[in-house]
Amino acid sequence: MKISFHGAAGCVTGSNYLIETDRFRFVVDCGMFQGNKTLKENNYRAFTYDPATIDFALVTHAHIDHTGLFPKLVKHGFKGPIYATPPTVDLLKHLLPDSAHIQEIEVMQKNRRNERKGLPPIEPIYDGTDAANAIALMKGVEHYASFAPVAGCKVTFHNAGHVLGSSFIEIELEDKGKKRKIIFSGDLGEDDKPILNDPDRFTETDFLVVESTYGNRNREQNSKEDRLAGLAEVFKRAEKRGGKLIIPAFALERTQDLLHDILILKQQKKISGIKVVVDSPLATEITKVFVKYPECYDEDASEIMKKMGGLFDHPDFRFTNSVDESKALNDEKRIVILSASGMCDAGRIKHHLKHNLWNPANTVLFVGYQAEGTLGRLLLEGAKTVRIHGEEVAVGAQIEQITGYSGHADQNGLINWLSGVKEVRQQVFVVHGEPDAADEFAALLNSKFGFRAVAPRMNEVFELLADQPSAKPVKITPARPVETPKSVDSHNLYAELMLKLAEFMRSSKDEKTRRETLSKILSQV
Ligand SMILES: [Zn+2]
Ligand SMILES: [Zn+2]
Repeated sequence: MKISFHGAAGCVTGSNYLIETDRFRFVVDCGMFQGNKTLKENNYRAFTYDPATIDFALVTHAHIDHTGLFPKLVKHGFKGPIYATPPTVDLLKHLLPDSAHIQEIEVMQKNRRNERKGLPPIEPIYDGTDAANAIALMKGVEHYASFAPVAGCKVTFHNAGHVLGSSFIEIELEDKGKKRKIIFSGDLGEDDKPILNDPDRFTETDFLVVESTYGNRNREQNSKEDRLAGLAEVFKRAEKRGGKLIIPAFALERTQDLLHDILILKQQKKISGIKVVVDSPLATEITKVFVKYPECYDEDASEIMKKMGGLFDHPDFRFTNSVDESKALNDEKRIVILSASGMCDAGRIKHHLKHNLWNPANTVLFVGYQAEGTLGRLLLEGAKTVRIHGEEVAVGAQIEQITGYSGHADQNGLINWLSGVKEVRQQVFVVHGEPDAADEFAALLNSKFGFRAVAPRMNEVFELLADQPSAKPVKITPARPVETPKSVDSHNLYAELMLKLAEFMRSSKDEKTRRETLSKILSQV
């Protein structure tokens, strides 16, 4: 029995793990690599295993970095069932076609550039038909309803409290007369986050595969009270400035979390009657899926829903439909705009930023993780100018951040989740983190709980049936050399250099200094 790591190993995105026994093989998640160009190139490479030989697949949750390559898996021969919770399946009916659409557009643009350069055209990773084929293979299984995809394998989904329908997965396997339990954490939410019930816990396992997005960091403003107070403060300051409040928000969960909290603040009369516009067709569709599953709501959400007659249909909330409606928002002043994508690297949010960033009356509020190399990260790091759609845009707007909305447990949250665990008999694999975060978290698990923990890298393979847990896991040399994707690649550095050069030319008035500095750089390349 073996486990191998084909994504989210040495990086955050691209979750994809393969478990093999002599009788069956299955994958847990099949996510897309997101972030810079070097990471994204992984999406175009062939799978390191043959998709046609995989018997079934399990999904922890709907996020694209866990599901975005299922259509590719199907395109390359996978025909088995894909098991996920019913809300996850419903969310993927919107997220996968959206992902296919984004790629088709990206590839079209890339091919136009390639044609001009005399390069051959590239094919999209998959298209809408592949996405539909993947959705057709999905089977909904409720939390806690154990099932056996094949003989010798029992699977149970537990609530991970991360996004609607999210699970950590308990897998009990039998092979060669031996039993092994493996728990995949998926992505873990915090206790007390908006709308969703707190993550379930487990007490014992043989192996644990755990995420480490915030494995070496703790956030401030983590309590519900801090989060709500922080949001009310930002609303007040934004209204004083008199312009718009623009919130880049992921279409899934963050948008609904914010509407939930804004509704609470409205009910408590802590914010004014300012209008809130959700300007993302995907977020609108996803909000409808939330409405379908009120049984996933925690006590607070159920209570405010009862008091206000609904979570998402307050008279101050508006969902745009057409592109014209979205464009018309340019002329409005005192409004709150929630728009995707959450890291500002695609979607309508880029238009809103292009039209509004220059104006000091406006506010941009970040409520989520901003990956290295994204426009969101540049803004958070205080860039004075940014490039949007090929144009340089000055940053005059106030940039604000509330960290309490992260979908991920921070280091304390992860430790808290694990504090009830009595036993990890064999090994912890720390995944879904930048190399530093994963390594530090693995070391912490060892020193704090005495767990044998390791942070595997891409394509590494480990044996799971060894009798005696060794100090080091039984590692098998992978067929393909291990390559750890870099979070900052040459394309990121190039973009940064171009921005700095433009800034230098603007700010340095002395011709001699300009000539000397530029000559120095030119002599290097
Ligand atoms: Zn996630
Ligand atoms: Zn993730």
